Amino acid sequence: QAKNAGRNAVCFFDPEMQAVATANATLATDLRQAWRENQFLIDYQPQVGADGRMSGVEALLRWRHPHRDLVAPADFISTAEETSLIIPIGRWVLEQACAQLAEWARRPDRRHLSIAVNVSVRQFRHPDFVDEVMTAIADAGIAPHKLKLELTESLLAEGIEVTVAKMGSLKDMGVTLSLDDFGMGYSSLSYLKRLPLDQLKIDKAFVKDILTDANDAAIARTIIGLAQSLGLSVIAEGVETREQRDFLAQQGCLEYQGYLFCKPLPIEELEQFIDRQAG
Ligand code: C2E
Ligand code: MG
Ligand code: MG
Ligand code: MG
Repeated sequence: QAKNAGRNAVCFFDPEMQAVATANATLATDLRQAWRENQFLIDYQPQVGADGRMSGVEALLRWRHPHRDLVAPADFISTAEETSLIIPIGRWVLEQACAQLAEWARRPDRRHLSIAVNVSVRQFRHPDFVDEVMTAIADAGIAPHKLKLELTESLLAEGIEVTVAKMGSLKDMGVTLSLDDFGMGYSSLSYLKRLPLDQLKIDKAFVKDILTDANDAAIARTIIGLAQSLGLSVIAEGVETREQRDFLAQQGCLEYQGYLFCKPLPIEELEQFIDRQAG
């Protein structure tokens, strides 16, 4: 007891920790203001099939601070989670994605496209989450399967039963479910089997050195095999070179996302990219 208290006391007065705490508090204040002032944007990154044809996009949140460079999600998502701001922001991303899908549904050259939306643990855990997804789909009047939710293995920390039940409700609604950053987490295979998934997404950490690192290649191969035996589709993120794409294709991964094809783009530029692809 006394030992713990002593350790905590030391931590509390650690100037470095103090600096981090202050920076976090500032970021939280900035984020609240950013949300009030509509400083968030969404970029969209194409997902393509083996034939190079776009199957959809992933929606990626951007924060355009008026006096700073673009802030990367990695630098603010965790604070958005801690402050619960991720709840309204996440709902907004979902609504934007559904509205975009509704617009594409009216255009024959775009109606096949899906949109993947990242869902944070905090958002998924929220008791209203399933209802919010249902409302967003109904309000936009879209086909549910066009909406793909990207979940991560960290959801499982909440407990397998709750997670399976919630995912089941989403699945029943017709939404597509993908497991993002797969291979980075700790889900056991027996858990994985119970999740009502449609897709595994190979984390870019394994794609990066797939040609030179035998371990990464083995992990990628294992994930692809796993997806095949579970009857799931598989997509690789962070594909930057033709060689990586070819290697993945040889192993049976036929969907890709990465700079080789296109970086994340603002909607206007994405529309141009789609037009160029079609033309
Ligand atoms: P993620 O979902 O795994 O997204 C993929 C990340 O890889 C994106 O980073 C994307 O810009 C980046 N990327 C795409 N192609 C390449 C490539 O060829 N090479 C490399 N090195 N990177 C590539 P980004 O946009 O910085 O997003 C980082 C993370 O932030 C996302 O990882 C996701 O976990 C989170 N995030 C983004 N938007 C949202 C959101 O709306 N809600 C929530 N909860 N999280 C989000
Ligand atoms: Mg993602
Ligand atoms: Mg990912
Ligand atoms: Mg990732």
